[in-house]
Amino acid sequence: MIQALGYAAKHSFSRLKPMAFERDDPKPGEVQIEVLFCGVCHSDIHQVKNEWGNTVYPCMPGHEIVGRVTKAADGGRHRVGDLVGVGCMIDSCRECEPCREGDENYCEGPNSWLATYNGPMISSKKAATGENIYGRDNTFGGYSNVLVVREEFVLSIPEALTPEQAAPILCAGVTTYSPLKHWGVKPGDKVGVVGLGGLGHMAVKIARAMGAEVTVFTTSSDKKAEAEALGARHVEMGKEVTAKAEELTATPGTFDLILSTVPEKHDVNAYVALLKRDKALVIVGALEPMAPVNNQAVAFHRRSVSGSLIGSIGETQEVLDFCAEHGITSDVQVIPIQEINQAMKRVEKGEVRFRYVIDMATLAEDMEDAS
Ligand code: NAP
Ligand code: ZN
Ligand code: ZN
Repeated sequence: MIQALGYAAKHSFSRLKPMAFERDDPKPGEVQIEVLFCGVCHSDIHQVKNEWGNTVYPCMPGHEIVGRVTKAADGGRHRVGDLVGVGCMIDSCRECEPCREGDENYCEGPNSWLATYNGPMISSKKAATGENIYGRDNTFGGYSNVLVVREEFVLSIPEALTPEQAAPILCAGVTTYSPLKHWGVKPGDKVGVVGLGGLGHMAVKIARAMGAEVTVFTTSSDKKAEAEALGARHVEMGKEVTAKAEELTATPGTFDLILSTVPEKHDVNAYVALLKRDKALVIVGALEPMAPVNNQAVAFHRRSVSGSLIGSIGETQEVLDFCAEHGITSDVQVIPIQEINQAMKRVEKGEVRFRYVIDMATLAEDMEDAS
């Protein structure tokens, strides 16, 4: 057993506090990682507060993890000393059709994919079979000093990226890269990004590097200059997340893809009207019932309203390499773990620019208290 330390919440209304726990020693095919940095994704906040209704407590978040391999079998994919990353998934059934086709993030096995924290996922199939293929009741994520992960789910961090700026690519980067790639964004396309936070700022940088002309839709007037500095050609500002068609100056029927990263239920009808024929609005933010879409606006132009969930392991390595090649990093504010509760409040108020990343070395301060 490995004696580990992390920050966890005990209830939906509690602050994250230091928690000592044990991790299993690495089994064949697994690597042990010393966590160096971990990004703070808005999903961590949803999960800690049980906003998706599936949180298992204690809840130790963290799925934008960069660390150093401290134990690995000889001849494996990763060596001791390698700088590696771990994103939202640490395993999947590896047998279902999506897994065989390299779409582990859409795993249809009895427990779906194994989440880095708050896993295994409870799927409708599990409810039917009662089976838990992972043999684990809960997983603890990257707000901790050590992880043990199957080597296929461990990514290589390119040398060109600094560890703290690479961390948000493991979720915010791949969650935006995957739909941009899937929907075939190409040079000259017009791409809209709704919500300029952790995901949104990576979407702007990646879409720009793919050659797209990017428009940012933001509710924060003070983000206009920042959006332009990130590479947005146009910035549209509304007061509410539900944009009113009359407030938007963008021309209807001119966008090739719009990504919504807004973390709450909102009305997307004003954005649907901006899409060209056959093009899609992809919702990657809110994971909840949304306001109704007027299907007249969808059907008349064969548009789609779609969703997308993180990205596969293959896409995660691809986006890391893409970012290294194009000189893209995340704009981060590094914090000690002792500031995590205040940082989460600031994220909810939209005050972060654009991702908090925890320096896990600061966990050492809590070691003595925990031992
Ligand atoms: P974030 O950093 O908080 O950014 C969200 C942005 O949305 C804010 O900066 C703000 O942009 C806008 N916004 C509008 N209403 C808001 C509200 N009530 N609270 C906060 N922001 C609001 O969040 P994130 O880490 O990018 O995550 C965005 C969403 O994506 C979250 O819901 C997260 O759970 C989800 N997510 C989904 C996936 C997936 O696989 N589909 C993966 C990762 C995250 P403006 O100031 O520009 O308006
Ligand atoms: Zn995330
Ligand atoms: Zn599967």
